[in-house]
Amino acid sequence: MRKTSFKEEKIFNMRKFWGSESLASHVDFRRGSEMYCVYCGKKADTREHCPSKAFLKRPFPTDLPTVPACKKCNNSFSSDEKFTKKMINFLYMYYLKSDNSFSISCKDDDRETQEAKKAVKEFIKKPYFDERMANVFRKLAICHAAYEISIGFYSDDWQGRPKYILYVLRPMLEEEKWKNLECAEVIDNDCLPEIGSRGFGNVYVIQLDMQAIDGEQRAKANMCILDWVDIQEGYYKYQAFLREEAICVKMIFNDFLYAEVMFEREI
Ligand SMILES: [Zn+2]
Repeated sequence: MRKTSFKEEKIFNMRKFWGSESLASHVDFRRGSEMYCVYCGKKADTREHCPSKAFLKRPFPTDLPTVPACKKCNNSFSSDEKFTKKMINFLYMYYLKSDNSFSISCKDDDRETQEAKKAVKEFIKKPYFDERMANVFRKLAICHAAYEISIGFYSDDWQGRPKYILYVLRPMLEEEKWKNLECAEVIDNDCLPEIGSRGFGNVYVIQLDMQAIDGEQRAKANMCILDWVDIQEGYYKYQAFLREEAICVKMIFNDFLYAEVMFEREI
């Protein structure tokens, strides 16, 4: 019999799914077990990385979050993801190079690259809301919500249609406003992630000890802070949490593009 080391035995893995079994089939990829697609609710047979590796650089992190998805849904986003990744790269090059230029290499001459090249030229002339990018942000938000706060779309009364999707590029904002977007999120006590969900492991409780400068008055308050899940430093991080009656997911790509998606309960 293999001996389990003390370390292996005692470590509590907060990134493992510890929630209820009824939700597990919707939000936890377990090879060989019955699972349901996070997007459409049909039987799932593939593993969906969230985020997709398209948004990361090699070597990829070994413990990327995964959720169950059906083959059809899993494949349906790949063209939009490629396009979005190219858009982000081109915009990054445009805004960060001093001569505001961007170039594409010959080997990257596929359809999505050409489409992104055209789209980015339009965007530079006049920023617009790109539906393909928004589709990718919605998709990523569904995965992150399922993975972090155990919300299984189509298995409960949340809907995959967002109330809003927004995104902004860092150079379009004053640095202070960008820093505010990057702050950890303060979570209401009654909106804490479910015990056993992965998001629960990212919540920190801090105690504020306040004292008036000119008096004896003193007050203490507890505050719950949700940290970012940093998938790859400088490339991708996200937060998924409940705010009142809504799911909010925030994502930052390349320290350069901020996207936010909000879902509401179906009434
Ligand atoms: Zn599906």
